[in-house]
Amino acid sequence: MAKKAAAKKPAAKKAETCCDEAHEILVVGSKVKAYLKSKDVLVSGEMIPAVSCKVACLLGKAVERCKANGRKTVKPCDL
Ligand SMILES: [Zn+2]
Repeated sequence: MAKKAAAKKPAAKKAETCCDEAHEILVVGSKVKAYLKSKDVLVSGEMIPAVSCKVACLLGKAVERCKANGRKTVKPCDL
């Protein structure tokens, strides 16, 4: 009997995101999907957490820059 390849267990299902932080989802999944679909591509389910992580990290950096400049108001220039 042929040896069965070791059952491949998908590595702990974790979306590929830009960092290890567990941010809450900040983007509207249906909107992001609809937008991407309008570009004539299929959308992987991992896109939403990945996009959201990018946004959260971007905002995190903006906050740091804002504070570093002694401000309390985060502005577009902090992005
Ligand atoms: Zn991130």
